[in-house]
Amino acid sequence: MFSNYYALLDISQRDRLTGLLNRQALENNFERIWTAMARPDAYQERSDGRRSAQADTFWLAVIDIDHFKMINDTHGHMIGDEALLLVARLMQNTFRTSDLLYRYGGEEFVAIVTAGNEAIARNIFERVRLAIEAHSFPRVGKITISIGYAEIDPDVLPVEVLGRADRSLYQAKKDGRNRVYDFEELVRSGIFPSPSYGDAELF
Ligand code: GH3
Ligand code: MG
Ligand code: MG
Repeated sequence: MFSNYYALLDISQRDRLTGLLNRQALENNFERIWTAMARPDAYQERSDGRRSAQADTFWLAVIDIDHFKMINDTHGHMIGDEALLLVARLMQNTFRTSDLLYRYGGEEFVAIVTAGNEAIARNIFERVRLAIEAHSFPRVGKITISIGYAEIDPDVLPVEVLGRADRSLYQAKKDGRNRVYDFEELVRSGIFPSPSYGDAELF
């Protein structure tokens, strides 16, 4: 549903180094994405009135380059810039054209993808992690990324979904980096507390 999206965006929505969508674009798009999700046809209603699991779900990931400061310190800022640009390109080529990829901050990215189920979502992000791990970067050699992601629930505020993905990313860093962590999985395994109703659930 986002395939024609990139063409419509003006230059101020893009990051100058990587050409990716920027943080401003992400914030502008939140409303559109959440509205699209809340549309009745976004999910197929079953006869018992419950949402069908077959409909696509949206997932938001926060992606951060591991030990990037060390790359700058060792090789200098220009090589750092080049590596960052290459990481962005590789990710962009690995994600599907319908996925949205933003440069969120310095060496931090946000991706929004659709997937039929949790396993497919994990597969998409795992593929991106592997694409970076498998690449040999000029001068720098190996670079890895860590990813935290969460399901986009139209009843949960964008800032909270971002927070869930970000906390999962932090956990991935803590556990050794170069890994993909799913917020819901961390809740199921008891590492994170279950999100409660007091947790910014209301608009
Ligand atoms: P971690 O694995 O925990 O993420 O470690 P890190 O070193 O990647 O994280 P930290 O936040 O300590 O450092 C991020 C570094 O990224 C510091 C900053 O100078 C560098 N950086 C941010 N934006 C750019 C950029 O546009 N170009 C270059 N060359 N470096 C950047
Ligand atoms: Mg980093
Ligand atoms: Mg960072």
